[in-house]
Amino acid sequence: MSQPQRTLVVDGLALAQEIRKELAEAVGRHAAAGRRPPCLAVVLVGDDPASVSYIRGKRRACQRVGMDSREDRLPAAVREADVLDRVQALNADPGVDGILVQLPLPGGIRAYEVASAIDPGKDIDGLHPLNAGRLLLGQPCLVPCTPLGILEILRRHEVPLEGSRAVVIGRSAIVGKPVALLLQQANATVTMCHSKSRDLPALCREAQVLVAAVGVPRLVRGDWIQPGAAVIDVGATSKDGEPVGDVDTESVMGIARLVTPHRRGVGPMTITMLLSNTLKAYEARLPA
Ligand code: NAP
Repeated sequence: MSQPQRTLVVDGLALAQEIRKELAEAVGRHAAAGRRPPCLAVVLVGDDPASVSYIRGKRRACQRVGMDSREDRLPAAVREADVLDRVQALNADPGVDGILVQLPLPGGIRAYEVASAIDPGKDIDGLHPLNAGRLLLGQPCLVPCTPLGILEILRRHEVPLEGSRAVVIGRSAIVGKPVALLLQQANATVTMCHSKSRDLPALCREAQVLVAAVGVPRLVRGDWIQPGAAVIDVGATSKDGEPVGDVDTESVMGIARLVTPHRRGVGPMTITMLLSNTLKAYEARLPA
């Protein structure tokens, strides 16, 4: 029987604020050199309240680090061709550095078609097939924000990745697949699990680093965790009206080395990586 250990509950907000300070300093250096601030353009189709709130948070975050942001709103009944036209206009606008089309999109508008229309150099969500392909090939690219934030959490907490066993639950294009690739690039040995995986608890028990990006409330419990593992809870769902994650946090306490809480965990880091990607896209577009 292993001894219980102190489990660190990651303060994703504090970490995010630390990185936002670094980003604000970088934006300040560009301003001091007489350059305009980086600009993020967000496109919202429809008026889903959660999306409206996410966009408000993203724009506020831009403002706090000295970046500009713009919002383009389109009615839910718009045609896909109109969304693509709007994206093309932002692609052509020299004052826009990053483009984000808020997901989910209303039925009838294909997310893949929209992501593929964004200029890959302005694709700060990292969903354009060129960026996804470059990530697969290990080439420089814009990487989806949540996986970037997860790797930053692990790095800043000095979680050893090289040679470690990592397990990712979930294989979405926006979280599961890219985080598995980043962990592999960091020389972890990665197992990817999904809804058809057999004996998920046993697979999870092999993990020294466990990333749960599922969307099933409190799926991962303490008896799935290897003592000393780093547990990253990406899930953002609700149960009985309460926001919950994919990990039953209480039951991993005293077993895991660290765990991200479902609030103030991965979420603030995702927004911060959006700012970081916008700065990266801006700097790549500066004249040589
Ligand atoms: P998604 O596209 O719905 O993918 C979910 C994945 O989980 C799929 O690969 C699915 O397997 C797998 N899965 C579903 N039920 C399972 C089960 N019982 N056992 C094992 N695997 C199972 O979701 P997503 O976009 O990756 O998001 C996942 C969660 O993270 C959601 O709660 C979302 O809200 C949250 N999220 C949070 C942030 C943040 O910043 N905090 C960012 C993005 C997402 P199949 O492929 O076989 O269907």
